[in-house]
Amino acid sequence: MKYVGAHVSTTGGVHHAPLNARKIGATAFALFTKNQRQWKSKPLTEDEISKFKEYCEKENYSSDYILPHDTYLINLGAPEKEMLEKSRETFIDELRRCCQLGLKYLNFHPGSHKKKMSDEECLKLVAESVNICLGETQYVMAVIEATAGQGGNVGYRFQHLAALIEMVEDKTRVGVCLDTCHIFAAGYDIRTPEAYEKTMREFAEVVGFNYLVGMHLNDAKVELGSRKDRHHSLGKGELGWDTFKIIMQDPRLDDMPLVLETIDEDLWAEEIKQLKSFVSTS
Ligand SMILES: [Zn+2]
Ligand SMILES: [Zn+2]
Repeated sequence: MKYVGAHVSTTGGVHHAPLNARKIGATAFALFTKNQRQWKSKPLTEDEISKFKEYCEKENYSSDYILPHDTYLINLGAPEKEMLEKSRETFIDELRRCCQLGLKYLNFHPGSHKKKMSDEECLKLVAESVNICLGETQYVMAVIEATAGQGGNVGYRFQHLAALIEMVEDKTRVGVCLDTCHIFAAGYDIRTPEAYEKTMREFAEVVGFNYLVGMHLNDAKVELGSRKDRHHSLGKGELGWDTFKIIMQDPRLDDMPLVLETIDEDLWAEEIKQLKSFVSTS
């Protein structure tokens, strides 16, 4: 079965996420467990935690289909020592917050070398960060997101994702998330059945579908290989609805969170409805 949702707001507290997800007809969702633009956040209260769990249960959202995202400030491959330390500390806090909420994943962008070192050196640093942070925490899986490769960000080749997995000691706590906008901007075409199959075959060979735990469904404002991260609403960008139809009919993407991060949240309910209509019932 396909589980589709969006990255919903937690304004007013994390427990609003399942309620906001229900309002748009989502069967999966993503959220920030703290303010995504601040380093420090207040710890989650017992009340917030119990309400979150209660609403997820009531609205039927299992942790299998919830994909929390870390704050944008974190850079686990930062060239500056101070930034790296701060990022690791915050990432550990985020893993613990997910654990408190009974969530099993934490989605993150691997990191950026800001053009101060090579991709390979940066990937090593990211893997070291992940190993340290997983060592300080329990249960929650670090989910590496494929990036567009903008501004020194690593993770724009499937080989980068594979290299990170290879260097992470606990393979049971590492996974990947493919973002349709990012991989397209990174140069992986998915616009026709043939192109999509070629890209997914490469992903299967280099990384393996056993590591894929979720997808971000975004159309792209930018062209193939532009290396820029610019999301668009589904059907309005370079990818177009046909791409998302192919995705919704791919059985390899069953039973995982498929999450919209598209730019107009007023369209989410409609986008989700349209996506669900593509699922073949035969
Ligand atoms: Zn994304
Ligand atoms: Zn993005």
